[in-house]
Amino acid sequence: MRNIIIFFFIVLFVRPGMAQDPKDFSNISFLAKLNKDKSYLELKSKIVSEFAFSKPGPWGEFIKGVDEEIATQKKIIAFTFDACGGKNGNGYDKELIDYLRTERIPATLFVTGKWIDSQFAAFQNLYPDSLFEIENHGLNHKPCSIDGESAYKIHGTASISEAYEEIEANERKIEAITGYRPLFYRSATAFIDEACVKMAAMLGVTVISYEVLSGDAVPNTPEHVLEENVLRNMKPGAVVIMHFNHPEWNTKEAMVKIVPRLRVLGYTFVHLRDVDLTSINTDHKAKAVK
Ligand SMILES: [Zn+2]
Repeated sequence: MRNIIIFFFIVLFVRPGMAQDPKDFSNISFLAKLNKDKSYLELKSKIVSEFAFSKPGPWGEFIKGVDEEIATQKKIIAFTFDACGGKNGNGYDKELIDYLRTERIPATLFVTGKWIDSQFAAFQNLYPDSLFEIENHGLNHKPCSIDGESAYKIHGTASISEAYEEIEANERKIEAITGYRPLFYRSATAFIDEACVKMAAMLGVTVISYEVLSGDAVPNTPEHVLEENVLRNMKPGAVVIMHFNHPEWNTKEAMVKIVPRLRVLGYTFVHLRDVDLTSINTDHKAKAVK
C-alpha cells in the first residue's frame, strides 16, 4: 500500500516539465496572451508615454548604464553563453553543456524567446539545473533600439513599444516557464541604445555586455585562437561571452583548453547574479555612432 501511495505521489507531483506544452509558450501564442494581460499592457503604456519624447542616445556595446565586468580584484570570472535563435541560430551545443556539467562550471545562459521555441526540450533540461543561470537575450533577437538601428546587418527594434516587447515579453516568457524573472538582459549583438538601457532599468533589468570576446561567433575560428583571445584578455572580474547554440563552432573545444589553464592560474567561476557588476566604459571601447 505504501508503495502505491508513493507511486501516485510521484506520478502526480514529480513530473518535471511534463505539464508544460511548448505550444503555450511559443512567441506567437505567448504574445497573444500578453496582449490581453492587464499588467503587461498597463506597463507598456506607461513605458511608451515615459519615452515618447526621448532621443535614442548613443548606440553601442559599452554605453552608459551597461555593465561589463564584475566589481572585484579577486580571481573570479563569469562565463556567459548566448543562444540567439532564428535561422542559422537554433542549434544546441549539447557537448558544451555536458562539458560544463562534468567540470561543474557555473555558467550564465542568455536565451531568446525564439531559441526557447526551437529547443524547448533542451531548455527544460537546462533551467532546473542550478549550475545554469538563465537570463534574457530578447524575445526575437533584435538589437534594442527605439528607432530601428541595426548591428552586424541584424535589424533592431524600430519603436519604443517594440523595444518594450523585446525585453519585457521575454522576461515574462522565461518567468512563466522557469519561475524565475531574469535579472539581466543582453541585447542581441550586445548593441543597444541609451533609451533602451533606461527602459530596462525601469523594468528592473540590468543590461550586461561583456569584457572578454572569445570570437567564437566568427565562423571557423580555430579553437587555439579562441583560447588565446580569452586568455590574453583575462583579468579578475572578467565577463566572457561565448555561444551555446552552434555545436559546429569550436566553443567547446576551446573551453576544454581554457578551463584547465584558468584553474592553474587560480581562477574560479561564478554566476552573474551572485556578484556585483560594474562598468568600464573606457573611451577606446565606446562605439557610439550617434
Ligand atoms: Zn545573440
